[in-house]
Amino acid sequence: MIIAIDGPSGAGKSTVARAVAKELNFASLDTGAMYRAVAWQALENGVDLHDGEALGEIARTYPIEFRHFEGEPLPRQVLIAESDVTDAIRTLAIDKAVSPVSAEPLVREALVEQQRRIGHAGDYVVEGRDIGTVVFPDAEVKVFLTASDEERAHRRVRQNAERGIGSTDYDEVLADIRRRDDYDSSRATSPLRPAEDAVILDSTDMPIEEVIAKICLLAREKRSSPAGADALKKTISSQKKA
Ligand code: C5P
Repeated sequence: MIIAIDGPSGAGKSTVARAVAKELNFASLDTGAMYRAVAWQALENGVDLHDGEALGEIARTYPIEFRHFEGEPLPRQVLIAESDVTDAIRTLAIDKAVSPVSAEPLVREALVEQQRRIGHAGDYVVEGRDIGTVVFPDAEVKVFLTASDEERAHRRVRQNAERGIGSTDYDEVLADIRRRDDYDSSRATSPLRPAEDAVILDSTDMPIEEVIAKICLLAREKRSSPAGADALKKTISSQKKA
């Protein structure tokens, strides 16, 4: 089973995806980390961030690896061409570089192919921007997780402070979140948008535990009764469709 979780920056996708994976005993895949790793390698190699051919070449030829610690189900480290970039891909410099990199069709083509290969190997919670629309359009569960810009900026500042990486300046983080939302939503290839059949969850005023519980409920229902899952989708969605 694939559980696709899409949404804008800072909506809580990573926290939710990891918790859902743990609860259901699924693996988890953070596709944003893959775009970030390619952006990191591009900066490292001094590649022009608008040179689609060169960026595509990095995405195709530099292997990205998620490394697990002994006995732990969820990955802890991200590597590109054997460099450990787990922390290095969370800086403001990468936040800025990743938008043009991820807008390049050749980069997306190479990474989407890898994401499909990984996801088809088992039960996965996959988080990103285009998982329910492009990467796994047949995903059994699709969630679009969102929250207000201000709430997302507050959460990102708290997370950066806890990790000791990235900016803790609220105004700077809010401006970056808005800039990335605009970029991700308006790009020509795979723009950020909810899949037609996604459940929309607005976590602005919803505790993260409730978001996690709703997704787990939906996945379990999908396994036991697909028709029941469709009915459930309507009742838990934050936004009723016309
Ligand atoms: O999820 P995260 O904020 O780490 O993603 C970093 C960037 O990677 C996003 O701003 C977006 O530009 C890009 N991305 C994407 N498609 C995905 C995942 C991430 O374009 N599936």
